[in-house]
Amino acid sequence: MNVDDSAMSTNAQNRDVTVIGLGLMGQALAEAFLRDGYATTVWNRTAEKADKLVAQGATAAGSVGEAVAAGSVVVVCVSDYDAVRELLDPLGDDALQGRILVNLTSGTSEAARDIARWAERRGAAYLDGAIMAIPQAIGTPDAVIFYSGPRAAFDLHEPVLRSIGEGTHLGDDHGLSSLHDVALLGVMWSVLNGFLQGAAMVGAAGVPASAFAPLVRTLIGTVGGWLPGYARQIDEGSYPALDATLDTHVAAMEHLVEESELFGVSTELPRFVKDLADRAVAAGQGDRGYPVLIEQFRQAGEGRA
Ligand code: NAP
Repeated sequence: MNVDDSAMSTNAQNRDVTVIGLGLMGQALAEAFLRDGYATTVWNRTAEKADKLVAQGATAAGSVGEAVAAGSVVVVCVSDYDAVRELLDPLGDDALQGRILVNLTSGTSEAARDIARWAERRGAAYLDGAIMAIPQAIGTPDAVIFYSGPRAAFDLHEPVLRSIGEGTHLGDDHGLSSLHDVALLGVMWSVLNGFLQGAAMVGAAGVPASAFAPLVRTLIGTVGGWLPGYARQIDEGSYPALDATLDTHVAAMEHLVEESELFGVSTELPRFVKDLADRAVAAGQGDRGYPVLIEQFRQAGEGRA
């Protein structure tokens, strides 16, 4: 079955939105649609979670099938992709015909592509989304939401989806939202772990984390400014040391390991950071700039631990 033309043509005019999954995020999504005046139908496995939304004007569906039937734009936001399949699989083959399914559940790119194939076989347009925000930000300009899937479907439904946040279309490949989501979370965890390592170190010398935090914030801004130039080097595959050589970084990394040891703080993260750089130096790249380490990350992806 092909994607029904009506899923790609008329439904943007339609103001019927369904939200399936009313956890912390689903509740915020439904509230944002209600605030903007959309006829919003909601469904949740634990039915009581719909009560507050019904008081705000939502209609509670008695089943997933009823919920899907009520909305031309069907938004799903549950814990994981297995739950999405569990909810949608039992629906008849025509249940999603002519609708747009917008899945804002977090998962992997492979699972996103799998659901895309499943939805398209049922005649639904499918957008996979990743919410880069907390529920409190939904409906504000601070809520950035990535979408991937057919550009035409995104353009058509963006006016409706704008209610929940600033949509960014990443490409036609349905897996791109999930991929960017986890890649950015990886950056976030690296930054947070670096902060925690540093806070443990200065904390051991009696400096409170609240005094350390503003310094880290400034550093994050400075390092952020380096990214466009480093990204250009990565894309060009050429790593001239325009600021500092990797050898210079490695010497400072050794100080981080030593200071951590001295203050009785874990050396696990500093040693990992240094091991990565040591491998690049051993490969003769010590005179290159920091972005040359991209090659270590790529090699790890090819089976190196
Ligand atoms: P949550 O508060 O734990 O809610 C989970 C939702 O999934 C509930 O509605 C739950 O139903 C439903 N659910 C789980 N398993 C199910 C199943 N087998 N069948 C039917 N429903 C099922 O989580 P959340 O914070 O709303 O997060 C939802 C999604 O948004 C996740 O993928 C999360 O990664 C993503 N997200 C969340 C945030 C955030 O800050 N919260 C930010 C970005 C992305 P019951 O109520 O019946 O348990």
